[in-house]
Amino acid sequence: HKEYHKQRTWIDRLFKRKGSSLYAVDDVSFSLQEGETLGLVGESGCGKSTLSRAIMRLYEPTGGTIRFLGEDITSYEQRKMRHMRKNMQMVFQDPYSSLNPRMTVKEMLAETIRFHQICQNDKELNEYIDYLLVRVGLNANDASRYPKAFSGGQRQRLCIARAISVKPKLLIADEPVSALDVSVQAHILNLLEDLKKEFQLSLIFISHDLSVVKYISDRVAVMYLGRIVEIGNSNEIFENPVHPYTQALLSAVPRFDVDQGKREKIALEGDPPSPYEKHTGCPFYSRCPKRMNICESMAPSFYATGATHLIRCHLAAEVGYQ
Ligand code: SF4
Ligand code: MG
Repeated sequence: HKEYHKQRTWIDRLFKRKGSSLYAVDDVSFSLQEGETLGLVGESGCGKSTLSRAIMRLYEPTGGTIRFLGEDITSYEQRKMRHMRKNMQMVFQDPYSSLNPRMTVKEMLAETIRFHQICQNDKELNEYIDYLLVRVGLNANDASRYPKAFSGGQRQRLCIARAISVKPKLLIADEPVSALDVSVQAHILNLLEDLKKEFQLSLIFISHDLSVVKYISDRVAVMYLGRIVEIGNSNEIFENPVHPYTQALLSAVPRFDVDQGKREKIALEGDPPSPYEKHTGCPFYSRCPKRMNICESMAPSFYATGATHLIRCHLAAEVGYQ
């Protein structure tokens, strides 16, 4: 599909910069259950999008394994992968650029539905397109219109309709509401939430906006410089963040359920270091308000505070977690 091709070209360009190699995503490991939503958060450039595109095999990871529906898809050839993508769909941040302006809504949806052979005949196809449009909150007679006739929120609904049209098992939504007006964001989030339940979708929801992630996620993974630094159930992460980076991110989110005074905003110094640099110690060292001597020379591994809460920080060891 065209949008995938576009993404691939963009990624190739990004990684071949100056001939140097860059571990945009490194040592990341997690699993996702059926019907579960994982929120992936972190500042822009931390590797969230790269990770999701690696899962989709939109670019080739240099190492590691991607297992999906019980199969190792890491070395699937692209032809086989195109068919596998029936089960894994993506919705991007910018609904404008992921819709072909020269195709009507019907043509666009039909292209995807036909490729994956979802419908038996044209009659079924037409009915299915009508159903999809209504299901995502549009009208059946929108099928003959072009993308330019729709607002930003409506275009994102179209992208969602296209993604769910093939009945995927996994939906990756990469900043799906970040380009939309705040008033529209909640509608799109509700739609995703409804569809997730109805279709038993597993959802990877990528955002830099923690309040959005909190609303929709069962589990949350926080990324910094290409690594997951903390992962756990949504409640644990939001109520008891342990990694200093997670604490800093959360301190910037206004809370309405507790006394505002209880949580002081933690300002981080500087920018994340260049991903081209090699780190021996903790990647967060240069900005960490709680750094210790050991952090400069020794990279922390994961410590667990429970069955599901993992933190990549020496402090988690210090305070007695194991
Ligand atoms: Fe900060 Fe050290 Fe923890 Fe890294 S390991 S986040 S530098 S306290
Ligand atoms: Mg991104």
